[in-house]
Amino acid sequence: MVLLDGKKTAQEIKDELKIKVDQLKKNGKKVPHLAAVLVGNNGASVTYVNAKVKACKYVGFESTLVNLSEDITETELLNKINELNQDENIDGYIVQLPLPKHIDELKVTKAISPQKDVDGFHPENLGKMVLNLPTFLPATPYGIVQLLERYNIETSGKHCVVIGRSHIVGTPMSLLMARKHKVGNCTVTLTHSRTKDLTKYTQSADIIIAALGKPEFLTGEMVKDGVVIVDVGITRVPDETKKSGFKLLGDVKFDEVSKKASHITPVPGGVGPMTIASLMMNTFQAIEMND
Ligand code: NAD
Repeated sequence: MVLLDGKKTAQEIKDELKIKVDQLKKNGKKVPHLAAVLVGNNGASVTYVNAKVKACKYVGFESTLVNLSEDITETELLNKINELNQDENIDGYIVQLPLPKHIDELKVTKAISPQKDVDGFHPENLGKMVLNLPTFLPATPYGIVQLLERYNIETSGKHCVVIGRSHIVGTPMSLLMARKHKVGNCTVTLTHSRTKDLTKYTQSADIIIAALGKPEFLTGEMVKDGVVIVDVGITRVPDETKKSGFKLLGDVKFDEVSKKASHITPVPGGVGPMTIASLMMNTFQAIEMND
């Protein structure tokens, strides 16, 4: 079994970007500037945003953290987004999800300028992805594609089962695995909460991408020998032995499934770091696309 080491691969990508940024600096050019908007102080969101700011520092990007109060109104947030759209110094930005319940996430996503939408969630960018046009790919699916590519995983003609159909992971992932591309050309089955007899599909899968947010859901008996497993899930589960009071669990029962898999991502250290590396790649691409 080969561990698909997202931490190591993300580090390689960041090191490659760092060299490119150093080159920009040497040539007296502007370095990419990423802004992150954080509404409230949800523990996981704070951790993710801080990790993104830290990655910017590492690769040499400028970064701005926009911290907004939990009770900001939708209009105030939309005004802030408009400011970021107009700010020529900012090349790309993200609005960390989830947003508080009183704010319409879709309205916010649609307000982000597609040219600065480095998370790739704007309908225009998702549409371009479907048409295979150059665009920002959603960070998590893009990170998974990068990971499979860098480990030379053969995907052409394989049966890929994606579990979960969210707009940010499962649905775009299923489209990327089916498209005509080095990592792609799969026959894809997109499964979800209404799928009947999920095991029937997972047992015939050559590649499984689990993104449903249910800890240790995929067990050994649900998969066949030699399967490639990508575990997207991250759930905080109480654990008194940890200083933080919780541990992170993926959607895959690692001890069982890793015995049958040819390749598998760990949690943590798999898809999570790749998501951040892809966001950095998208931000670099923003200055090239908007040049
Ligand atoms: P979501 O909650 O928006 O969607 C979950 C999906 O799972 C839904 O489409 C639902 O239909 C499906 N589902 C639920 N129960 C199911 C079942 N029993 N069988 C089959 N499908 C079922 O989730 P999301 O935003 O896509 O996130 C999924 C997980 O991935 C979460 O744990 C999240 O924290 C994690 N995540 C990780 C990263 C990363 O960078 N590693 C990024 C995004 C999300």
